[in-house]
Formats: sequence, C-alpha cells, structure tokens
Amino acid sequence: LQVDLGERSYPIYIGGGLLSQAGDYFARHGLSAKSPVLIVTDDNVAPLHLKQVEESLRQAGYSTVVKIVPAGEKSKSLDVFEDVMTAAIEGGLDRKSAVVALGGGVVGDLAGFVAASYMRGVPFVQMPTTILAHDSSVGGKVAVNHRLAKNMIGAFYQPEMVLYDVDTLQTLPEREVRAGLAEVVKHGLIWDEAFTSWCREHTAELLALDPEALGYALTKGCEIKAHVVSRDERENGLRAILNLGHTIGHAIEAIAGYGEYLHGEAISIGMAAAALISVNRGADRSLYEETTSILRGFGLPTIMPEQLDEDKIIGAMMHDKKFKEQQLVFILPKSIGKVEIVSDVKVEEVRRVIRELK
Ligand code: NAD
Ligand code: ZN
Repeated sequence: LQVDLGERSYPIYIGGGLLSQAGDYFARHGLSAKSPVLIVTDDNVAPLHLKQVEESLRQAGYSTVVKIVPAGEKSKSLDVFEDVMTAAIEGGLDRKSAVVALGGGVVGDLAGFVAASYMRGVPFVQMPTTILAHDSSVGGKVAVNHRLAKNMIGAFYQPEMVLYDVDTLQTLPEREVRAGLAEVVKHGLIWDEAFTSWCREHTAELLALDPEALGYALTKGCEIKAHVVSRDERENGLRAILNLGHTIGHAIEAIAGYGEYLHGEAISIGMAAAALISVNRGADRSLYEETTSILRGFGLPTIMPEQLDEDKIIGAMMHDKKFKEQQLVFILPKSIGKVEIVSDVKVEEVRRVIRELK
C-alpha cells in the first residue's frame, strides 16, 4: 500500500512475519547501516516483540540503540521526549540514523516527534503493534501532550515506511483489540458502505485476530485514511470527516478521566450519538440501528454512561475548538459509508441525544 502525499509518498507494508525481516526492508529502502538506529518502544511491547527487530537489524549490519519508555499515555510528555533525546545523543545518532517506533499510537507519536526534531529531522520508521495504530501510522501527525492539553506540541512528519506486522497483534489485550476496531469501523462508516458490510460479516474473524481478516481490514482502514488525508494533508476541510464520533467521544474521555474509557470505546458512543442526531434531523432510523448494531457486534459501548453528567459533557465540548457561538461543527452520517460536515448543530440537539442514549 502506498500513501501518496505529493512529492512525499511512503509505503505501508501489512502482513505476517514482517518484524523478522526488518533488516531487509531497511536495506531495501536505503537506510544507512553506518549510522546507529534508535528503537523506541514501551515496557509492554519490549519483552514481546523487541528481540526480533533487533536481531533482524543486526543481521543486516545495523547497530541499534534501544529506549524503552513506560507504557501508556503519560509517556507522550516533554519529560519522556527529553529522555529519548538523551538516548539518541548518548547513542551517537547522526543525521542518517533512523528512529523506529515499535509500539502503539503512544510510541508512534512520541518517537515520530523525536525523529522530526532530532538534528531537525532524521528518517522515521513506524512498526505499529496495535490495531488503533493503523490510524496513527497514516497522516504524519506526531506529537506529545502538554500538561494543559493533548497533542499540543508536535509536527507533521512522514515516515520512510511503515512495517505493520499483524502477528504482533496476537498479544494485544482483548479490550485494546475491540477499541482499535472501532476506528476501523469508523473508516468504513465515513467512506465505504461495502467495507462496512464486510466488517459486519467478518466481526467474528476480526475479534479472533484471524491474520487474513486483520490484514484486509487494516489495509482498507489505512487506504481510506490515506485517501482522505492525501486530499487534505493540513486539515482544511475534508480531513474533518475522520472525526466522526470524536466531538462527543473526546468529551467523554476528558470528563470520565483519561483511561476510564479507551479512545475507541468513547468514539463508539460518539458515533452512536452522531447517528442519532442525524435521525432526529430526519434520517431514517435504520441508520442509527445499523450503526449501533455493528459497533455492538464488536463489543463496543453505544449508550451514554449513566454516571456522566449531561452538563459536564456539554461543558467539555465547549472547550473543543469546533464550538462556535452555541453551534457545533459536527460530522453527521447521511447513510452508511457517507457523512457530511454540518456546522449548525445546536447544543440542544446534543443534549437531546445524550438523554436519549442513557
Ligand atoms: P498505546 O500505544 O498506549 O497502546 C495501548 C496499550 O497496548 C499499551 O499499554 C501498550 O503497551 C500495549 N500494547 C501495544 N502493543 C501491544 C502488543 N502487540 N501486545 C501487547 N500489548 C501491546 O495506545 P494506542 O491505542 O495504540 O494509541 C493511542 C495513542 O495514539 C493516543 O495517544 C492517540 O493520541 C494517538 N493517536 C495518534 C494519531 C495520529 O494521527 N498521530 C491517531 C490516532 C491516535
Ligand atoms: Zn480517533
């Protein structure tokens, strides 16, 4: 799969056994074997998948430096960013050194920002190990969080390549699997009715981590995102459709306390809510029913948690940059596989669906 962004395009390889061929891929893509490679990973992923990457690189003649950060969102911080920089400097990385992100979206965003900043930019290679990371491996957004706001400090920086070894997903906790699949379903819902049907028909295979089904779903998900992003790399218009379910989803994540809901779980509720707003605006009720039945099939939540206060959800949404004068910019489904960007959703409409979804 090729992500094409004008003059900067890069390949995404998706399949089994890729990590143990990492060295070959590095050589094939002309990455310098004279410069040390920095592998950034977290302490859950390292014991499971680091060895094969290191061995494969070593066999191909690359020397490696490893930085293992604590698992979890807290590692997307300036403090940890500085620790990784220290490892890069102490490890003697030069301008031709590659920085590898081996892990989920947290490691991808962190290591990507290191790659973008170290000596003003060195080659970056993504090796995603979560389903959710199919989303973060396309689009070139890299960042760390500020104490006051998520993803505040970052850059647009494209990788040289993405090596997506689906075998690594076998060790992913089940809850992470389901939450990651929420973004896969989202890509179908915004763009591709046939793919959405495919997801519904292959729910069991996907949840059982069948390699062939996963490979197809991740390829499709990446393809749709790449297609949308390549038309709107800097988020001027179309790219907003990728935010289906995210306005309410982010509010739920923020007020429930980060970590209470996984991102995929929160946007699942958000996608149900968006479908219901569409129905309240005249769309056929089947739109809501089909949306929620697919999500529920993946074991994802589609009702508003009782303990979450309506005013707080609305309050959190007001902080969102999409809020303008009592009206919200919302991505609303028109039919399965089609959405529209609507800029006149009233706060009252959101309040109504929050109540209806409880
Ligand atoms: P994550 O990186 O925290 O991974 C989730 C958990 O799974 C972690 O505990 C991790 O250690 C563990 N894990 C990862 N791979 C594993 C494996 N193969 N086996 C066992 N455990 C494994 O989170 P995520 O869900 O992958 O990504 C979330 C992050 O991605 C957020 O910070 C979000 O902001 C970011 N993100 C970025 C973009 C983008 O465009 N840059 C898009 C979407 C999300
Ligand atoms: Zn998302």
